[in-house]
Amino acid sequence: MDIVKIKDLTYKYPIGDENVLKDVNLTIEKGKLYALVGSNGSGKTTLCNVIRGFIPHFHHGELKGEVLIYDKDIREYELGELALKIGFVFQNPYTQISGVKDTVFEEIAYGLENLGVEVETIRQKVAEVIQLLGIEYLQDKNPQELSGGQKQRVALASIIVMEPDILVIDEPTSQLDPQGTEEVFKIIEIMKQKGKTIILVEHKIELIAEYADHVVLLQDGEIVTQGKTKDILSDERAMNYGVPLPQYAILGIEMKKKGINLQQIPLTENESVAVMRSWLATKGVKV
Ligand code: ADP
Repeated sequence: MDIVKIKDLTYKYPIGDENVLKDVNLTIEKGKLYALVGSNGSGKTTLCNVIRGFIPHFHHGELKGEVLIYDKDIREYELGELALKIGFVFQNPYTQISGVKDTVFEEIAYGLENLGVEVETIRQKVAEVIQLLGIEYLQDKNPQELSGGQKQRVALASIIVMEPDILVIDEPTSQLDPQGTEEVFKIIEIMKQKGKTIILVEHKIELIAEYADHVVLLQDGEIVTQGKTKDILSDERAMNYGVPLPQYAILGIEMKKKGINLQQIPLTENESVAVMRSWLATKGVKV
């Protein structure tokens, strides 16, 4: 099922005279993870803002074309109604903590509380999310005292507890160390398994290779290419738009250029091992 359909979208912010999105066409299928890539200023955050309704509800500007969420035009939604369908997690974990709650448990409960959900139901839902994400050890801590990675996981938990179908996650790991990054991606993987639709802006290409189903490459507000991750990230042309390829893909491409007949260009460590094994087997070498 296609839950987001964007047709011929062109957008200009109220300030600035250039279109920052130009003729964008994009269909988002339920349950898939879409990675938005492209150099700084290419329009990734603006596209996220369209999908979560901040454009046109909050930033006015000039919007042409069509944005449909569950077949309903974004302009016909109330922002509150959209917020129930689309959860949004952004870059800076420090600004996402409310600052008014003393424990992680209460922090995660905050959104449901604001919706007036019954206390017992809130307790149950928060406990379930904490268990699902494996953050029991954080639940009694003060949110202000957490590390960046822990804060980001609590921010994700606060959104997940609201049970949105779509998660828009804009550079969640840019301020995190490798461990924090890995922990955030564990959560993204859990959400994928739960069938959530995820739109992710992420610069770490190896993580995109590992987790994304589709890649959408933006340049100067236009989608220059989009498709299955394995096709986009094994094509050297991505590099012309400032998007690096995974190191395994670069190795595979160079080997092919030297006449080594690999079955496919690998993107990840596991794929690389499999591809090398089958190539060696064609040479009669068993490993
Ligand atoms: P990315 O996320 O790929 O870095 P953005 O969507 O943030 O790109 O920005 C795309 C373009 O829109 C840039 O030229 C940026 O300067 C401009 N822009 C972003 N936000 C605003 C805003 N609130 N008002 C005016 N122009 C903006």
